[in-house]
Amino acid sequence: MQLSTKNSAHSHLKTIPLKKIWVNDGFWSHRRTINHQTSLRHAFRKLEDSGNFNNLKLAAGSGQGRYCEPFFMDSDIYKWLEALSYELSNQPDPELEAMADQAIDLLAAAQQEDGYLNSYFQVVEPDKKWTELAMGHELYCAGHLFEAAVAHHRATGQTKLLDIARRFADHIDAAFGPGKGDAVPGHPEIELALVELFRTTGEQRYLDLAGFFIDQRGHGKMIGRTPFEAGYHQDRVPVREAEIVEGHAVRQLYLLAGIADVYLETGEPALLEVSQRLWRDMTAHKMHLTGGFGARHRGEAFGDAYELPSDRCYCETCAAIASMMWNWRLLLITGEAHYADLLERSLYNGFLSGISLDGQRYFYVNPLLSRGGIERPEWYGCACCPPNVMRQIAMLANYVATTRGDGLQIHQYIATTIEAELNDERPLKVRVETNYPWQGQIRLIIEETDGSPWELAVRIPGWCQEATVQAGDDVSDVSASRGAYAKINRAWQAGETVQLNLGLQPRLVEPNPRIDAVRGSLAIERGPLVYCLEEADQPAGVNLLDVRLDPNTPLQAGWREDLLGGVVVVEAQGTVVDMSSWQDTLYRSLTTEGLSQQSVNLTAVPYYAWANRGPGSMRVWIPLR
Ligand SMILES: [Zn+2]
Repeated sequence: MQLSTKNSAHSHLKTIPLKKIWVNDGFWSHRRTINHQTSLRHAFRKLEDSGNFNNLKLAAGSGQGRYCEPFFMDSDIYKWLEALSYELSNQPDPELEAMADQAIDLLAAAQQEDGYLNSYFQVVEPDKKWTELAMGHELYCAGHLFEAAVAHHRATGQTKLLDIARRFADHIDAAFGPGKGDAVPGHPEIELALVELFRTTGEQRYLDLAGFFIDQRGHGKMIGRTPFEAGYHQDRVPVREAEIVEGHAVRQLYLLAGIADVYLETGEPALLEVSQRLWRDMTAHKMHLTGGFGARHRGEAFGDAYELPSDRCYCETCAAIASMMWNWRLLLITGEAHYADLLERSLYNGFLSGISLDGQRYFYVNPLLSRGGIERPEWYGCACCPPNVMRQIAMLANYVATTRGDGLQIHQYIATTIEAELNDERPLKVRVETNYPWQGQIRLIIEETDGSPWELAVRIPGWCQEATVQAGDDVSDVSASRGAYAKINRAWQAGETVQLNLGLQPRLVEPNPRIDAVRGSLAIERGPLVYCLEEADQPAGVNLLDVRLDPNTPLQAGWREDLLGGVVVVEAQGTVVDMSSWQDTLYRSLTTEGLSQQSVNLTAVPYYAWANRGPGSMRVWIPLR
């Protein structure tokens, strides 16, 4: 999922290699350390215990016992290998390298002579290869292999995993394409992976094959059993004619990321038009406040416009990841800040809620309302989200900055050191110091530059009401640039500092009145963070179903070192309604009699940190007093 668009003709902004961005002390370095030290090792054990590795051994002829389903177990190994490779990009770790080598040797042993590699179809249904494309996940698993291989090659310079990937890609290319076989991948993923494999190897056939898979959709060509309708698989209409996001949210968003990837290389206008059309539909009608996607459990799918329930939404962690992947590509294509804004929303909320603070428990589904009883499991039988979280955290620095001509653009405020090259290979080194998202001060220290002019662009988030930029003695109010980039062009000197100040006053958010599920409610946000009420932080005996928010009392933010690993909490005033006149009644004739209410202090915590203290209740949207 790390992109390299340095040579992509239609990449308005150019990516900076992960090896050239170091994450320094701050919010994300803490998460990354946990990912590196705990989650990746925890996952290795889980992949052993759950049978993922044994499945490959069975394919290689050296395993014992039964094959462990589901049939896309290989993909969890690939996502984990990809995450591990990103971690090796910036810091050697012999133990992780040994784990990677062990897995790669196993893959090499399992791969068939002809390049085919999928443990399920090799072991369980060898006569069904390439016949169950709707639900069989063969091409999906291949895509994850390609992503892992590219990541491993970039991190280590080795080609052993890349060779495995290329042999399988060549096998697939021999089977599918114009004049060969038709194929609609039932779960998109291979498209974006083939484009990145093309970027790494220069092999044009891989890009062509990605385009072919995209063109195949919407013509009734999908084969294999599926309990779902064509829309679930994004196969109802040809890609370029699509008007709405629909069906399985992760499938839809991976497909859109793949479409954007093909556009980055080919520049075909229709691909960008459909991307922008579907982005508008999604953000205007089908997005949860957390940057989570998928309103329905049935089909893990987008719902109708404004169908955005808080309790029964799906909001799969992988859908938030897919949103980040797609928005990153659209940002690279257009340079427009609203894509970076949405990436940030998904990152700090719908994505980050998918992993516990200790890095050992996960959420697959991320509701915005829990009446209690929900706890994070350590792993899932269908494990797709946990290793996806790991690779996302490990490659986060890829989203921080880009270059364009003689300019550096900063998109996400993560404490990092960035080495980049401007036009004509002009070297540049910038350090970003910040305690974001807790504080809005971001210091950019120019450590190396050649003394001739270049442009520094910093994103002013759409939610930000007040922003200033200070360079030397010049202070500029850049509040008017919200939802865009503030730019300073000058001949910078090494040692100069730019200070960006983003106002982080907590704010109330109202929903579109057409969203029935949360009408009459408000939510709390501060900076990029969505907040929630958790039972554990409210006065004893307060039932979160009975609380009301008073919108007229100012919100108060304060740092709490002792809470949830250190968070800024937001205090609000509200009431608790007296439910005694309702007792066991669900419905009654309308009366004019109001409910008596008692004042209560409400304490909100960042949504991402919920469900780390037992199975208490939680809500994001709070009914108005
Ligand atoms: Zn998932």
